[in-house]
Amino acid sequence: MGLYKLPGIPHRGWTLHDVIDLHDDEGLEYGDYEDCQFCDHEQIRYVHLLGHSSYDGVARVGCICACKLTEDYVNPKLRERELRNRSARRQRFPDRKWKPTRHGGKSITVDGHRVTISLKGGKYRIWIDSVEGKLYFDAERQAMLRAYDYIQKKKAKGRI
Ligand SMILES: [Zn+2]
Repeated sequence: MGLYKLPGIPHRGWTLHDVIDLHDDEGLEYGDYEDCQFCDHEQIRYVHLLGHSSYDGVARVGCICACKLTEDYVNPKLRERELRNRSARRQRFPDRKWKPTRHGGKSITVDGHRVTISLKGGKYRIWIDSVEGKLYFDAERQAMLRAYDYIQKKKAKGRI
């Protein structure tokens, strides 16, 4: 979009609303990410959402532009680092110490909840606290990550 070259677009005084991780869903390749709406350059996985009183809507920009536009060189970086750390924890989850179950599956306790992944009809299935999930997964790792996301989302909503 290249907002920087449009007349009337402010170059400072923006407010950071949120930072989101586009890799929440698996499988995005480089090139599938967005470009920074302000400078058009960066391929951004972490999208900083900025607002301004004289701009309609939300600008989706990279960390560098977020810092410049908000004139805050601390918080956009911190927020992005938090998301990076969260993503790293998620990626490590399938590699943690899962215990074998009697039925040939694997089980682990995360945030007080027992997650079990087991083959059923040739596909992987998730159980959380003995409640069977509705989805089938081709890959064990995929099922593990889905279980992890489910628990994180519930936790974020304060439901568990
Ligand atoms: Zn940019």
